[in-house]
Amino acid sequence: MAEKLTPREKNFSEWYVDVVLKSKLADYSDVKGCMVIRPNGYAVWENIQRGLDGMFKATGHKNAYFPLLIPESFLRKEAEHVEGFAPQLAVVTHAGGKKLEEPYVIRPTSETIINSMFARWIQSYRDLPMLLNQWANVIRWEMRTRLFLRTTEFLWQEGHTCHETDAEAEEETLRMLEVYRTFAEEWMAMPVLAGLKSDSERFAGAVRTYSIEAMMQDRKALQAGTSHNLGQNFARAFGTQFQGRDGQQHFVWQTSWGASTRLVGGLVMTHSDDAGLVLPPKLAPTHVVIVVIGKGEERGPVVAKAQAVAEDLRKAGLSVLVDDDESKGPGFKYFEYELAGVCLRMELGPKDLAKGACVLVRRDDRSKESVPLDQAVAVARAKLDAMQKALFERARAFRDANTFVVGSLEELKKRADDGFLVAQWCLAPACEARIKEETGGVTSRNRPFTLKQEPGSCVVCGNPSPGAWVWSKAY
Ligand SMILES: [Zn+2]
Repeated sequence: MAEKLTPREKNFSEWYVDVVLKSKLADYSDVKGCMVIRPNGYAVWENIQRGLDGMFKATGHKNAYFPLLIPESFLRKEAEHVEGFAPQLAVVTHAGGKKLEEPYVIRPTSETIINSMFARWIQSYRDLPMLLNQWANVIRWEMRTRLFLRTTEFLWQEGHTCHETDAEAEEETLRMLEVYRTFAEEWMAMPVLAGLKSDSERFAGAVRTYSIEAMMQDRKALQAGTSHNLGQNFARAFGTQFQGRDGQQHFVWQTSWGASTRLVGGLVMTHSDDAGLVLPPKLAPTHVVIVVIGKGEERGPVVAKAQAVAEDLRKAGLSVLVDDDESKGPGFKYFEYELAGVCLRMELGPKDLAKGACVLVRRDDRSKESVPLDQAVAVARAKLDAMQKALFERARAFRDANTFVVGSLEELKKRADDGFLVAQWCLAPACEARIKEETGGVTSRNRPFTLKQEPGSCVVCGNPSPGAWVWSKAY
């Protein structure tokens, strides 16, 4: 039998790496900081893509594709942007056996190259809004990497939009944040806090950045998606202008927003357990595995029935696997499918068949039930729905039980590893920096929309504070 995973209690980061490697989501590669996404992991990513892409299209966005290489001079056009990304850039200086006249940067994000095209495509207010999304890979040179959570190359989507007014751009920024919130909660079963980021955590070149923040099982935060109001910063740098209804030239108002393969890491750290992967049914590559039990001659009719049931389940829209491999025992198979994160296991043997029943086992709570075969499809669907809901409820209860209101810097220090800390802050960068320094890395996550803003005094300096923020250690 395969070796067990490191338990979460013993070492959470080792457990995480064990789950990712042993459930075959991803593997390390020979390229420093880059990972290989294996079929089990890529299938999860494809389901994430499918879900998000549908939501982007339903809100009026269209997909496009821009070059991987960006002229270095483009990045320099927006001062804050280049300063923010300079340490992470990979630059192509030679190609075709010659030194290039102008180096190319491998995209760390695409605001600049997309703006160079927006400037050509947009002439009039009639061309607005322009609502694009790109599914792509990007490279950000990272010193310390972690599978899915922080890799030098990663897959993501980046939305880029142009609008006639500041108000429309803000509306779009918040609309897409809400898309991320809905996706995280309804598809990933991962509760999140949607809110405003502090200036120090703002995207390089943006006016305002919003995020969704989730709590992982080790009580650390994961920023799972960001949405930026770019104002006119890139439009001014690239001359992206339009003739307004007043006949005058105006710079467009822009947004950008992104979510990445980091979400796969978020899924693992939100739901999985010491036996391996637990995936919400809406994103799981395999919903049901039917394990055929029994020996020799008696297997024939069982296999036939298993295949018939599998066909019915597939017709009901589920992804199903039939395992009738006689060379491995059921115990070994249960272990493997639990590790791989299959949502439901159906055990079917000669005795079950004689009774016209099967046994269904849920991956998340391991609840076991004997179910009449003629009701298998309806019961399986109901169990998957219940599992989707239960995963969300459990994660939300965990987050709520590990969220604390704190009233002083001392308390912040004491509770630094306890979860989400709600603390009043005067908005001064110095106080934010001091919290980070004195707590060993607690940072402002965001100011959630759901957190009622009441004035108080800053936990660091005691000066008046307009309201509280959520603070935590983070990935
Ligand atoms: Zn302060």
